[in-house]
Amino acid sequence: MTNSNNSSVDIAGAAIPTGLFIDGTWRPGENDATFDVISPASGAFVASVADASVSDALDALGSADRAQASWGRTSGRERAEILRAAFDLIRQNRDVIAAVTTAEMGRPIEQSLGEVDYGGEFFRWFSEQAAHLSGDFGSSPRGDFDILTTKVPVGPSLLITPWNFPLAMGTRKIGAALAAGCTVVIKPAAQTPLTMALLVRLLAEAGVPAGVVNFVPTSDSAPQSEALMADSRLRKVSFTGSTGVGIRLLQQAAPNVLRSSMELGGNGPFLVFDDANLDAALDGAMLAKFRNGGQSCVAANRFIVQRAVADEFIARLVERTQALAVGDGATPGMDVGPLIDARQLARVQNLVDDAIAQGATVLTGGKSVPGNGHFFEPTVLVDVPPHADIANEEIFGPVAVVSVVDSDDEAIAAANDTPYGLAAFLYSDDVTRAFNATSRIEAGMIGVNRGLVSEVGAPFGGVKASGLGREGGKLGIEEYLETKYIALARL
Ligand code: NAD
Repeated sequence: MTNSNNSSVDIAGAAIPTGLFIDGTWRPGENDATFDVISPASGAFVASVADASVSDALDALGSADRAQASWGRTSGRERAEILRAAFDLIRQNRDVIAAVTTAEMGRPIEQSLGEVDYGGEFFRWFSEQAAHLSGDFGSSPRGDFDILTTKVPVGPSLLITPWNFPLAMGTRKIGAALAAGCTVVIKPAAQTPLTMALLVRLLAEAGVPAGVVNFVPTSDSAPQSEALMADSRLRKVSFTGSTGVGIRLLQQAAPNVLRSSMELGGNGPFLVFDDANLDAALDGAMLAKFRNGGQSCVAANRFIVQRAVADEFIARLVERTQALAVGDGATPGMDVGPLIDARQLARVQNLVDDAIAQGATVLTGGKSVPGNGHFFEPTVLVDVPPHADIANEEIFGPVAVVSVVDSDDEAIAAANDTPYGLAAFLYSDDVTRAFNATSRIEAGMIGVNRGLVSEVGAPFGGVKASGLGREGGKLGIEEYLETKYIALARL
């Protein structure tokens, strides 16, 4: 599956490809163009990666288009076995994949290992579904003809992934697409192409035929995806990233009426009712806020706490936040790594400074950490005015904003006061009270007495400006399938 001018970088004793992967072959970018991957923990050079041009990307789409017919005709069992083999390879390469992710995004190695376990499971899950695709058979209401429905693959799909979970955001799409019989062109985030390059190598080793999986990292996404989206050979786009880019892609999808799945930003509320078990609520809060340094679309952005428990919750949250170990994730035992780049660091600092200027109080943290890495102190803010940007925008950093409310109604109104609707969290020991609240909270996913909702067997996705469609669970594969109906005359 590789050619002789195949190039790679050594990380944790493994050769990680640094080329493009098109039609079953690793190759350089047009004119040998490359871009650099830089460690956000130290500013050190990690690798130079092939930079796909628009023409490289169109080659990748051509390859996916040529492979579509035969891949779409393979048996579900064959696709299942390839995905299962890829799952096994991910397990065998667990340490290396985690080391690559930590090298390019700085995240604590223990959390990278957790992502490998979570991300790999999508291949097992979709391998189990690939062999069970089925349609329906019935008759017309008048009984004069038969109704047959079958499921067919949508066709060549563009998968655009973010840097914050560089493996799992890929496997969640790739597993569903391959199980459904779609070929793919993968465009990873420029900050983290190496994790995906390694995954693509493992997919080839697992037996994915040439042309079915194509990989085109680029430093300049906009022209590349514009050209791909305008090409009628593309039949589907699945995007995970910011709402602004998602809206642009939906506009580009319109002329070709492209099937579109959008996993976009969030502004997660975390509600603590006055009957909550505070030990559990604090464990959940630490996970929902500080996992991945807050750089998660399902992170808790706003803590909304009822007055009777507010003082204790805030004091204990500050204490636990101060105990977090911040540093290069390659060193075992860190809790919070760096932010992904200088731009993101400046963004978080500006949001905090703006909140302070508007009257917010910093209970701990509040500043970036001097040095070459992009570290920000784990922070807790109170007295933040509701109109401050930090209460309305996705923070994507280790900053907890806590507000105090007096009733369930006030808490739920505050939770819904956002254009987003991805994840929400709610702590209460009264099941009926909690369940009533879930019916009123506008979110695609709600954790009740749980600080983590992501799960391969559950539908992941949002409402309002947080997106369209669901990934994982039973619905994930549907995003890559068309329903074809056949009216069969009874002669
Ligand atoms: P981003 O939108 O800047 O980038 C996401 C991807 O889109 C990257 O691959 C990037 O290179 C590419 N991209 C950027 N501009 C593009 C353009 N004009 N055309 C085509 N592609 C383009 O987001 P990010 O900063 O990399 O990731 C963080 C965002 O992702 C946050 O908003 C977060 O909430 C969201 N996210 C959502 C989910 C979810 O499932 N809902 C999961 C993870 C992250």
